[in-house]
Amino acid sequence: MSYDNNNIFAKILRGEIPCIKVYEDEQTLAFMDIMPQADGHTLVIPKEAAETIHDLSDEGAANLIKKVKMVAAAVKKGLSADGITLFQLNGEQAGQTVPHIHFHILPGSYLTAKAHSSVSAEHARLEAMAEKIRSGF
Ligand code: AMP
Repeated sequence: MSYDNNNIFAKILRGEIPCIKVYEDEQTLAFMDIMPQADGHTLVIPKEAAETIHDLSDEGAANLIKKVKMVAAAVKKGLSADGITLFQLNGEQAGQTVPHIHFHILPGSYLTAKAHSSVSAEHARLEAMAEKIRSGF
């Protein structure tokens, strides 16, 4: 599958549109989901241009899961979450809406979460969650 350089996460990576960042390094960016399924819903993306897990290099996949583990720990600590759900969708048929691979970190249970990509949250509420998560590193 050819990578779409104009997808929204590619634009975020290039700094063309803003995001509420909680973590960044040379290979990875983590930021708040603007339509959180629960408070603290965070996304972790590689900087490598890859649409799905099938397109990501082995090295990129290994790094990404390490960073997901690290950011998930910060979400858990910063928000005092008892449980953390991780999920990752590949392809439209699976429900993927942004064609740049990403992991979702969701405090609590998917079973009681809001619907996927449904309601935008207030900037101030997202920033407040991000501040707590940053304090969890
Ligand atoms: P998926 O359906 O797995 O591709 O998930 C894409 C996620 O990106 C959804 O949870 C959206 O709410 C979220 N999203 C879409 N646009 C943005 C954006 N500009 N900033 C942050 N999150 C976004």
